Amino acid sequence: MGVQSVMHLPSLRRALLTWFDAHHRPLPWRADRDPYRIWVSEVMLQQTTVAAVGPYFERFLLAFPTVQALAAADEQDVLKLWSGLGYYRRARHLHAAAKVLAERGLVDDPAVWEALPGVGRYILGAVLSQAFDRRLPIVEANSLRVLSRWFAYTGDPRAGEGKKWVWQAAEAVLPTKRAGDFNQAVMELGATVCKPTAPKCDDCPVAKWCEARRLGKQADIPPPAVRPTPTLVREVGVAVRDGDRVLWCRRRPDAKRWQNMWELPHAEVRPGEPLEAAAVRVAAKLTGLRVTAGREVATVKHGVTRWSITLTVLEAERAGGEFIPGEYAAGEWLTAEGWASLPVSSPQRKLADRLAKPPERRLF
Ligand code: SF4
Repeated sequence: MGVQSVMHLPSLRRALLTWFDAHHRPLPWRADRDPYRIWVSEVMLQQTTVAAVGPYFERFLLAFPTVQALAAADEQDVLKLWSGLGYYRRARHLHAAAKVLAERGLVDDPAVWEALPGVGRYILGAVLSQAFDRRLPIVEANSLRVLSRWFAYTGDPRAGEGKKWVWQAAEAVLPTKRAGDFNQAVMELGATVCKPTAPKCDDCPVAKWCEARRLGKQADIPPPAVRPTPTLVREVGVAVRDGDRVLWCRRRPDAKRWQNMWELPHAEVRPGEPLEAAAVRVAAKLTGLRVTAGREVATVKHGVTRWSITLTVLEAERAGGEFIPGEYAAGEWLTAEGWASLPVSSPQRKLADRLAKPPERRLF
């Protein structure tokens, strides 16, 4: 069914907004229409669940209550508060954009927002529709499912023509007033009622206008996302000790990912290479240090885009040499107290916590 041919849109809009007014979750960023709070929350919510974002949002706003405070902050402090939330480029973009907005103001002007780092069509629509009631659409995982079902769109709304279709649909369904609330309502419906599997159609406020339901095709729309099989990667890391201090390294600002974040040096193990030999090689290559590899600190598994990484970190004694920057921007010898407050990714946080415990108490 074509988006433009839908004659019942006014009724659907009214029903959805009435439902949203009565049933929306009282999330901290919904307390007012402050563009700064909305912007921070929307950046955090990209690729991350509402439940995970809650405590990060509160801490972040406490530390940086205004765009001026964020603009004036040290990037390391921003990354620290983002540690564990993932997709750290978002934090660096947010910080860089805050420097512009602190000067220009958080204005109701799409041209200003579009030019900011990290602001794509989703953030633009989310912030300006919610803060200023601009009639701008948004599309994310929940809304693309809801829209596909409303119109019984059978293509894949995540790619190609389907992607074009879903943005057109998101724009076409928007009312002229309360566009921000309507965008939120579509997402809320997707998050709480029109779920990926077993949508609660009997509780749905717009069920009588839903084409997928009429056709009994809710379970088939949209088609499941095609996920590539992850490539397995084996990595070794080294916790180089010098007395009670351990060498932590800061990634380069031009690194492929995790720019300016801290970590224990690590790299891929070569095929057939014993872990101890790999640890010695990796330490020399990445830090310039000669080391003697020792016992295992921990093995952590994590996924990065299409890679599934298993990282084993070994303790190592410093046998000679000095840290040489190059592969890393900086290295620091830190005690547990020092490394506890570094900006690190979730796997590195696990390793840091494990490393802080005496070996006999290191049970994962
Ligand atoms: Fe989703 Fe069912 Fe509502 Fe349609 S009727 S929007 S499939 S919950």
